[in-house]
Amino acid sequence: MTSTTAKPKVTIVGYGSQGRAHALNLRDSGFDVTIGLRPGGPTEIKARADGFTVKAPAEAVKDAGIVAILTPDMVQPQLYGEVIEPNIAAGACLLFAHGFNVHYQQIAPRDDLDVVLVAPKGPGALVRREYEIGRGVPAVYAVHQDRSGNAEQLALAYCAGIGGARQNAIRTTFKEETETDLFGEQAVLCGGATKLVQAGWETLVEAGYQPEVAYYECLHELKLIVDLFYEGGITRMHEFISETAQYGALTRGNYIVDEHTRAQMRKVLQEIQDGTFARQWIAEYAAGNANYRAMKQADLEHPVEAIGKKLRANMKWLASSQPAAAKPAAASETPPQSEAA
Ligand code: NAD
Ligand code: MG
Repeated sequence: MTSTTAKPKVTIVGYGSQGRAHALNLRDSGFDVTIGLRPGGPTEIKARADGFTVKAPAEAVKDAGIVAILTPDMVQPQLYGEVIEPNIAAGACLLFAHGFNVHYQQIAPRDDLDVVLVAPKGPGALVRREYEIGRGVPAVYAVHQDRSGNAEQLALAYCAGIGGARQNAIRTTFKEETETDLFGEQAVLCGGATKLVQAGWETLVEAGYQPEVAYYECLHELKLIVDLFYEGGITRMHEFISETAQYGALTRGNYIVDEHTRAQMRKVLQEIQDGTFARQWIAEYAAGNANYRAMKQADLEHPVEAIGKKLRANMKWLASSQPAAAKPAAASETPPQSEAA
């Protein structure tokens, strides 16, 4: 693609959390979008119901100016090697939403391709919802390989097309996006927050308090605090919580996140930077995900889940609200044998 004005044809391989949101937003932004999926795969019906042309990935990528690989990270190397590289047009642009496979050298893209990253900082359903109401989620973008001289413009065009407002798009590198994304989800957002909630709830319940009351205190109310962070930072939280809550937070927060916690955070980061985490996850996936499944099952069976399910049944307002991260059938947990494209 050499034109900076014409919108390139986009093929999106994968129609899950990110794939569906990108596809719908790009189409509404005037892009010609085709979806590449395995015939009979779990999301094919959904893509067709949304009105897209769906082709097998090998066919779908042939005449695309931009090919976005939005399958689970662990299936991308085989998919790229067997299906995309032999079929993608010379000089096309290969686009990722996470730098993992390029950064950890699981995919070495063909030399003639532009290779870019556009990573919205939010789950797919939010990427779609924010676009529909005329806003957008912040996004980061990067260029790994620029053969056309136009790779950055292509990344920015795609970024704008999915609703990542230009003023919020930050240029990064594959390395920075990969390492910070993994760190954020492991230490703070997914790993850290989950374990903090579970441990807080367990502490209250073990001390004899009602599990339902502990649920409100340690899980439900987290949203109210995070909404304040989102709107106005920690400053906003301090404006809204009581003086007693502020004094307790200021004097007791460091009991929880102490020097040991900080050392553990540096360890998490070290294992990301030196490739330990990537090697472990790739090996787990290749071995069929037995440990991953068992650990996930333990989270799903944690007693706070049963309490929450019961209490949320009476939260009428939840029935009408869209999930923040609706995700189709757990395609990413399928072992590699059954993921052949
Ligand atoms: P997902 O698990 O929601 O979707 C997977 C899709 O890929 C499904 O349509 C599935 O049928 C399809 N698929 C699986 N194997 C396939 C194969 N071999 N050939 C063709 N299609 C196949 O994935 P996701 O969570 O949207 O992640 C996609 C990418 O976006 C990843 O690189 C991820 O790191 C990145 N990302 C995800 C999020 C998020 O919130 N989920 C946020 C930012 C970036
Ligand atoms: Mg991530």
